[in-house]
Amino acid sequence: MHDIAAFRALHEARFEAEPAIFSAPGRVNLIGEHTDYAEGFVMPAAINFATLAGISPRADGKIALFSENYGQVLYFDAADLPAKATQHWTDYPLGVISILAGEGHTIPGFSLSLWGDVPLGSGLSSSAAVEVATGLAVTSLIGVDYPRPVLARLCQRAENEFVGANCGIMDQFISANGAKDHALLLDCRDLSYKLAPIPEHVELVIANTMVKHSVAGSGYTSRRADVEAACAVIASHRPEVKFLRDATLDDLKKWGGEMTPTALKRARHVITENTRTVAAAKALIDGELHELGRLMAEAHESYSKDFEASCEEADTMVALAQNLPGLIGARLTGGGFGGCTINLVEHQQANAFVQALGELYKSKTGIAPQIHICHASGGAHRIE
Ligand code: ADP
Ligand code: MG
Repeated sequence: MHDIAAFRALHEARFEAEPAIFSAPGRVNLIGEHTDYAEGFVMPAAINFATLAGISPRADGKIALFSENYGQVLYFDAADLPAKATQHWTDYPLGVISILAGEGHTIPGFSLSLWGDVPLGSGLSSSAAVEVATGLAVTSLIGVDYPRPVLARLCQRAENEFVGANCGIMDQFISANGAKDHALLLDCRDLSYKLAPIPEHVELVIANTMVKHSVAGSGYTSRRADVEAACAVIASHRPEVKFLRDATLDDLKKWGGEMTPTALKRARHVITENTRTVAAAKALIDGELHELGRLMAEAHESYSKDFEASCEEADTMVALAQNLPGLIGARLTGGGFGGCTINLVEHQQANAFVQALGELYKSKTGIAPQIHICHASGGAHRIE
């Protein structure tokens, strides 16, 4: 966890001003992958890895962006912000600032320090943590208090419109709205949600395959294109189907032949994943952990075979977990093509599980994984 005093001291030493400090968490998705942009359901939890943002005003009209992770500070003109991304970490905070400017806010000069312990590019959404932390810091500086779902939308737009990554709403929403000890079933159509308590005896074990994923990468983009193409075929027969959220397996039976075989498989994943996610939330709320685990296994199978968004290492990590004592359910989490698996594990067996999974994965792949026992945490907040 972060050393807030050290972070404050870093900001003060660099910028000679006392910062207001905000924290926004990363997240792990328990189930519901690539369903958010189909206006479907997801069930993430915020985790105890977070990004801190420290902010203080400046008199010179400059915006100073410092990341402790990158050991770099860059200066921009508040009155003349860059219009385009440059494939640099500053794209994320600049995206948020530029979206806020586009909302009609005058952006003053300020110094912003960032420091995160969310592993970067590992499917735990360090990008949303940076965006939401920046969004809270800057809106607080300019005296604006957006409702959390609105803040999440603005941060998502920063990633879509400025950074150029076509992500859905899940990551920013859970970072802004997470609740301690709970997962959150989010309806991505209207952003209504229901909290599902995670029982005290269940641990969130997050296992990093150490294979880098990228939401901006071609895999994610091509999956979205396939999903949209499949939806267009169904909509040509049933115009009320605006997103795959509205489609059924029966639609695929009737009109799947008009899709490419690939688009058909992608659509089958999204349609079945939506049903699974709602069922998984019910299972968690009802304490039916065996059923939850079964749904997670099915979700991984669908993600790997139909959506083809897994990778050999993630399939290995999930398969190895199945035989270990204490496992409730395991699957690849996040946008796909690498990153982390989520394992729900009985508290009593969690330490032994971590040890055994690490050793098995290392001997099978030659890669030493990072495995963390995480907790469902609250959403973004100011640190007093
Ligand atoms: P993920 O969100 O799964 O971690 P992304 O590729 O979406 O992966 O986002 C990772 C990017 O977010 C990093 O490459 C970097 O540009 C930015 N980022 C994340 N954390 C920080 C940080 N603490 N400081 C600066 N940039 C960060
Ligand atoms: Mg991301």
